[in-house]
Amino acid sequence: MKIAILPGDGIGPEIIAQAQQVLEVLRQEGLAIETEQAPLGGAAYDAFGQPYPEFTQKLCREADAVLLGAVGGPAYDQLERPLRPERGLLAIRKDLNLFANLRPAILYPELANASTLKPEVVSGLDIMIVRELTGDIYFGQPRGMGVNAQGEREAYNTMRYSESEVRRIAHVAFGIALKRNKKLCSVDKANVLETTEFWKEIMNDVAKEYLQVELSHMYVDNAAMQLVRYPKQFDVMVTGNIFGDILSDQASMLTGSIGMLPSASLDQNNKGLYEPSHGSAPDIAGKDLANPLATILSTAMMLRYSFGLEAEALRVEKAVKTVLAQGYRTGDIYEAGCQKVSCSAMGAAVVAAL
Ligand code: NAD
Repeated sequence: MKIAILPGDGIGPEIIAQAQQVLEVLRQEGLAIETEQAPLGGAAYDAFGQPYPEFTQKLCREADAVLLGAVGGPAYDQLERPLRPERGLLAIRKDLNLFANLRPAILYPELANASTLKPEVVSGLDIMIVRELTGDIYFGQPRGMGVNAQGEREAYNTMRYSESEVRRIAHVAFGIALKRNKKLCSVDKANVLETTEFWKEIMNDVAKEYLQVELSHMYVDNAAMQLVRYPKQFDVMVTGNIFGDILSDQASMLTGSIGMLPSASLDQNNKGLYEPSHGSAPDIAGKDLANPLATILSTAMMLRYSFGLEAEALRVEKAVKTVLAQGYRTGDIYEAGCQKVSCSAMGAAVVAAL
């Protein structure tokens, strides 16, 4: 199992170091893990003058999975757009053809007070949002700005999905639902948009291959409402790029703690890029204050989705639950009565729990 490690910028190196310790425990126990590091984002610009240089590209293409910290920072904000760290992120997603974005929103009972919603609404929440990442109105052609036949300025984008694009994300979502509670909700706006009527039709067709999974459909406006009204009704949600962009951010904030949220982006063969949902947090970078749990949980997702190591993934997730139950908290999730710890101390606690 070859893993490319891209610490990135800001808190990236600090949180990645903790995830690497977790991998090291598993390696010492006999898992055939090989890791190699390369820069991405600002760090890559500093080393190679590019946010996604050839060196990094080669390593990521050859790897079975990629673990990323975060990219970006004020030092790079004045660069020309193609050289900015965030471009490195877009480039790697495109280069590796990562079309399926998996964003879990899990609220550990110990952190129920971190949410802005009432604890009884969100405690125990465990939703997986599967978002199509490489199609839809974000990429559809034609797109542009111009002047119409009447001489008035106008702008337009095209919502577009091919059958194969919808089928492949459907299979990913059904596959995930099979491994969870076997409930899949497909989100669309089929009452208004042909593209999503088509999406719904294909979801129904693919469902015939997954008879154990209960498929339901929901309009996106209702889904947004239901996510804050009664989020625990959802197990797995699947949706297109633009709806997924919005709903996954909304769902992640139900948990209230950005330092806890992992993510995965997968290709056709389950090769994946795993990263925390947060950014490089320049305000706390280099101070050993960051919460490394989102990155450690991203590592658990890597074990599950790229390597099929369900037991090991569960073990890492259980170790995270254990440290929360023991009362360890980094600053972002701290509440009175708990023990405030540094990034490295939190990593060490997870290793001890493992
Ligand atoms: P951010 O997620 O970096 O930070 C937002 C707030 O959350 C900050 O107060 C930060 O201290 C806190 N925070 C984030 N992660 C934390 C953690 N693990 N532990 C404790 N606190 C944490 O978002 P931002 O401030 O909008 O962006 C900062 C930089 O990160 C920008 O350059 C942005 O472009 C970049 N960014 C990168 C990614 C990515 O690499 N995937 C995603 C979002 C933003």
